[in-house]
Amino acid sequence: MKSMATLKVNEIFYSIQGEGLRTGQATIFIRFTGCNLKCPFCDTTYAFDKGRDMSANEIMVTVLNTAKVNKIKWVCLTGGEPLIQDLHDLITMLKRAGFHVAIETNGTCLCYEEVDHITVSPKAQVKFYEYNKDTVQNASELKFIIEDTDSIAYAEAFLAQFQFKNDPALFLQPVSNNPVATKLCVGHILKDQRFRLGLQIHKFIGVR
Ligand code: SF4
Repeated sequence: MKSMATLKVNEIFYSIQGEGLRTGQATIFIRFTGCNLKCPFCDTTYAFDKGRDMSANEIMVTVLNTAKVNKIKWVCLTGGEPLIQDLHDLITMLKRAGFHVAIETNGTCLCYEEVDHITVSPKAQVKFYEYNKDTVQNASELKFIIEDTDSIAYAEAFLAQFQFKNDPALFLQPVSNNPVATKLCVGHILKDQRFRLGLQIHKFIGVR
Protein backbone atom coordinates (compact mmCIF):
# COMPACT_ATOMS: atom_id res chain seq x y z
CA MET A 1 0.00 0.00 0.00
CA LYS A 2 1.22 3.51 -0.78
CA SER A 3 2.68 5.21 2.28
CA MET A 4 1.26 8.64 3.20
CA ALA A 5 4.82 9.89 3.19
CA THR A 6 5.63 9.07 -0.42
CA LEU A 7 5.58 11.43 -3.33
CA LYS A 8 5.10 10.41 -6.93
CA VAL A 9 8.15 11.50 -8.92
CA ASN A 10 8.44 11.34 -12.70
CA GLU A 11 12.16 12.11 -12.91
CA ILE A 12 15.07 13.77 -11.15
CA PHE A 13 17.75 15.22 -13.39
CA TYR A 14 20.53 17.76 -13.53
CA SER A 15 20.53 20.39 -16.27
CA ILE A 16 20.38 24.13 -16.80
CA GLN A 17 17.24 26.17 -16.33
CA GLY A 18 15.96 26.88 -19.83
CA GLU A 19 13.20 29.41 -19.12
CA GLY A 20 12.49 32.61 -17.25
CA LEU A 21 14.56 34.76 -14.91
CA ARG A 22 16.85 31.91 -13.86
CA THR A 23 17.70 30.92 -17.45
CA GLY A 24 21.16 29.38 -17.68
CA GLN A 25 21.40 28.46 -13.97
CA ALA A 26 22.65 24.96 -13.24
CA THR A 27 19.78 23.27 -11.42
CA ILE A 28 18.62 19.91 -10.13
CA PHE A 29 15.07 19.34 -11.34
CA ILE A 30 12.57 17.19 -9.50
CA ARG A 31 9.63 16.56 -11.82
CA PHE A 32 6.53 15.42 -9.98
CA THR A 33 3.85 13.25 -11.53
CA GLY A 34 0.34 14.53 -12.18
CA CYS A 35 -1.39 17.78 -13.02
CA ASN A 36 -4.80 19.22 -12.19
CA LEU A 37 -5.01 20.79 -15.67
CA LYS A 38 -4.74 19.35 -19.14
CA CYS A 39 -3.48 22.15 -21.33
CA PRO A 40 -3.66 21.40 -25.07
CA PHE A 41 -0.08 22.67 -25.59
CA CYS A 42 1.45 20.81 -22.62
CA ASP A 43 4.99 19.62 -23.39
CA THR A 44 5.27 17.41 -20.31
CA THR A 45 2.31 15.07 -20.86
CA TYR A 46 4.70 12.19 -20.05
CA ALA A 47 4.51 13.40 -16.45
CA PHE A 48 0.72 13.08 -16.18
CA ASP A 49 0.75 9.47 -14.94
CA LYS A 50 4.19 7.93 -15.05
CA GLY A 51 6.42 7.99 -12.01
CA ARG A 52 7.55 6.13 -8.96
CA ASP A 53 6.74 6.54 -5.31
CA MET A 54 9.63 8.01 -3.37
CA SER A 55 9.88 9.20 0.20
CA ALA A 56 11.26 12.68 0.87
CA ASN A 57 14.35 10.93 2.28
CA GLU A 58 14.88 8.96 -0.94
CA ILE A 59 14.52 12.11 -3.02
CA MET A 60 17.03 13.89 -0.77
CA VAL A 61 19.57 11.07 -1.23
CA THR A 62 19.36 11.48 -5.01
CA VAL A 63 19.56 15.27 -4.80
CA LEU A 64 22.48 15.23 -2.36
CA ASN A 65 24.42 12.72 -4.45
CA THR A 66 23.95 14.90 -7.54
CA ALA A 67 24.78 18.08 -5.65
CA LYS A 68 27.90 16.57 -4.05
CA VAL A 69 29.46 15.85 -7.43
CA ASN A 70 28.42 19.09 -9.07
CA LYS A 71 28.19 21.54 -6.12
CA ILE A 72 24.70 22.66 -7.12
CA LYS A 73 22.71 25.09 -4.98
CA TRP A 74 19.43 25.37 -6.89
CA VAL A 75 16.68 22.77 -6.91
CA CYS A 76 13.58 23.30 -9.07
CA LEU A 77 10.31 21.56 -8.24
CA THR A 78 8.35 21.12 -11.42
CA GLY A 79 5.86 18.84 -13.12
CA GLY A 80 3.12 18.36 -14.04
CA GLU A 81 1.87 20.50 -11.22
CA PRO A 82 4.14 19.99 -8.19
CA LEU A 83 1.79 21.63 -5.68
CA ILE A 84 -0.93 18.98 -5.96
CA GLN A 85 1.29 16.84 -3.70
CA ASP A 86 2.32 17.58 -0.11
CA LEU A 87 5.86 18.91 -0.49
CA HIS A 88 6.25 20.36 2.99
CA ASP A 89 8.68 17.77 4.37
CA LEU A 90 10.80 17.74 1.23
CA ILE A 91 11.05 21.52 1.06
CA THR A 92 12.00 21.65 4.74
CA MET A 93 14.76 19.11 4.13
CA LEU A 94 16.04 20.94 1.05
CA LYS A 95 16.19 24.24 2.92
CA ARG A 96 17.92 22.67 5.92
CA ALA A 97 20.51 21.22 3.54
CA GLY A 98 21.20 24.73 2.21
CA PHE A 99 19.52 24.54 -1.20
CA HIS A 100 17.68 27.39 -2.87
CA VAL A 101 14.26 26.10 -3.87
CA ALA A 102 12.46 27.21 -7.02
CA ILE A 103 9.03 26.02 -8.10
CA GLU A 104 7.18 26.06 -11.42
CA THR A 105 3.44 26.07 -10.90
CA ASN A 106 0.23 26.87 -12.74
CA GLY A 107 -0.80 28.98 -9.73
CA THR A 108 -3.96 27.12 -8.74
CA CYS A 109 -2.62 25.61 -5.49
CA LEU A 110 -1.18 27.12 -2.31
CA CYS A 111 2.60 27.43 -2.36
CA TYR A 112 4.99 27.17 0.61
CA GLU A 113 6.51 30.25 2.28
CA GLU A 114 9.93 28.60 2.28
CA VAL A 115 10.17 28.56 -1.53
CA ASP A 116 12.76 31.07 -2.77
CA HIS A 117 11.59 31.55 -6.34
CA ILE A 118 8.04 31.08 -7.60
CA THR A 119 7.33 30.89 -11.32
CA VAL A 120 3.61 31.05 -12.03
CA SER A 121 2.44 30.13 -15.51
CA PRO A 122 -1.24 31.12 -15.77
CA LYS A 123 -3.40 29.14 -18.17
CA ALA A 124 -6.11 30.66 -20.33
CA GLN A 125 -8.66 27.95 -19.51
CA VAL A 126 -8.55 28.76 -15.78
CA LYS A 127 -10.97 31.33 -14.37
CA PHE A 128 -9.33 34.07 -12.30
CA TYR A 129 -11.16 33.02 -9.13
CA GLU A 130 -9.75 29.49 -9.47
CA TYR A 131 -6.18 30.66 -8.91
CA ASN A 132 -4.63 30.64 -5.48
CA LYS A 133 -4.32 34.35 -4.75
CA ASP A 134 -1.39 33.99 -2.31
CA THR A 135 0.63 31.90 -4.74
CA VAL A 136 -0.01 34.26 -7.64
CA GLN A 137 0.60 37.45 -5.66
CA ASN A 138 3.88 36.12 -4.24
CA ALA A 139 5.23 35.15 -7.66
CA SER A 140 8.81 36.04 -8.57
CA GLU A 141 7.89 35.83 -12.23
CA LEU A 142 4.84 35.21 -14.38
CA LYS A 143 5.14 33.26 -17.59
CA PHE A 144 2.28 33.51 -20.07
CA ILE A 145 2.24 30.95 -22.86
CA ILE A 146 1.21 32.79 -26.02
CA GLU A 147 -0.52 31.14 -28.97
CA ASP A 148 -2.53 34.00 -30.41
CA THR A 149 -3.93 37.46 -29.68
CA ASP A 150 -6.51 35.94 -27.31
CA SER A 151 -3.76 34.64 -25.05
CA ILE A 152 -2.16 38.09 -24.93
CA ALA A 153 -5.55 39.54 -23.99
CA TYR A 154 -5.78 36.91 -21.24
CA ALA A 155 -2.36 37.97 -19.90
CA GLU A 156 -3.47 41.60 -19.75
CA ALA A 157 -6.72 40.71 -18.02
CA PHE A 158 -4.92 38.38 -15.61
CA LEU A 159 -2.55 41.14 -14.47
CA ALA A 160 -5.48 43.45 -13.72
CA GLN A 161 -6.96 40.88 -11.29
CA PHE A 162 -4.10 40.62 -8.75
CA GLN A 163 -1.95 42.80 -6.49
CA PHE A 164 1.61 41.56 -6.81
CA LYS A 165 4.00 41.78 -3.86
CA ASN A 166 7.38 41.20 -5.49
CA ASP A 167 7.23 43.16 -8.75
CA PRO A 168 7.37 39.92 -10.75
CA ALA A 169 9.06 39.74 -14.14
CA LEU A 170 6.42 39.26 -16.84
CA PHE A 171 7.26 36.91 -19.69
CA LEU A 172 5.36 36.35 -22.90
CA GLN A 173 6.55 32.93 -24.00
CA PRO A 174 5.59 31.78 -27.50
CA VAL A 175 4.15 28.28 -27.37
CA SER A 176 6.87 25.76 -28.28
CA ASN A 177 9.07 28.61 -29.61
CA ASN A 178 6.60 28.88 -32.51
CA PRO A 179 7.81 31.59 -34.99
CA VAL A 180 4.35 33.10 -35.60
CA ALA A 181 3.65 33.30 -31.87
CA THR A 182 7.16 34.73 -31.33
CA LYS A 183 6.46 37.53 -33.80
CA LEU A 184 3.20 38.26 -32.00
CA CYS A 185 4.99 38.42 -28.63
CA VAL A 186 7.74 40.71 -29.95
CA GLY A 187 5.18 43.04 -31.53
CA HIS A 188 3.30 43.29 -28.24
CA ILE A 189 6.43 43.76 -26.10
CA LEU A 190 7.54 46.67 -28.28
CA LYS A 191 4.22 48.37 -27.46
CA ASP A 192 3.99 47.32 -23.80
CA GLN A 193 7.39 47.20 -22.13
CA ARG A 194 6.11 45.64 -18.92
CA PHE A 195 6.61 42.35 -20.73
CA ARG A 196 9.75 40.61 -21.91
CA LEU A 197 10.23 37.75 -24.33
CA GLY A 198 10.63 34.27 -22.88
CA LEU A 199 12.09 31.50 -24.98
CA GLN A 200 12.73 27.89 -24.06
CA ILE A 201 16.48 27.92 -24.65
CA HIS A 202 16.94 24.30 -23.59
CA LYS A 203 15.06 23.33 -26.77
CA PHE A 204 17.52 25.32 -28.90
CA ILE A 205 20.63 23.85 -27.33
CA GLY A 206 19.35 20.30 -27.06
CA VAL A 207 19.28 19.80 -23.29
CA ARG A 208 16.35 18.80 -21.12
S1 SF4 B 1 -0.45 23.20 -16.10
FE1 SF4 B 1 1.57 22.82 -17.02
S2 SF4 B 1 1.97 20.64 -16.63
FE2 SF4 B 1 -0.23 20.96 -16.30
S3 SF4 B 1 -1.18 20.42 -18.26
FE3 SF4 B 1 -0.82 22.65 -18.25
S4 SF4 B 1 1.18 22.92 -19.24
FE4 SF4 B 1 1.02 20.74 -18.65
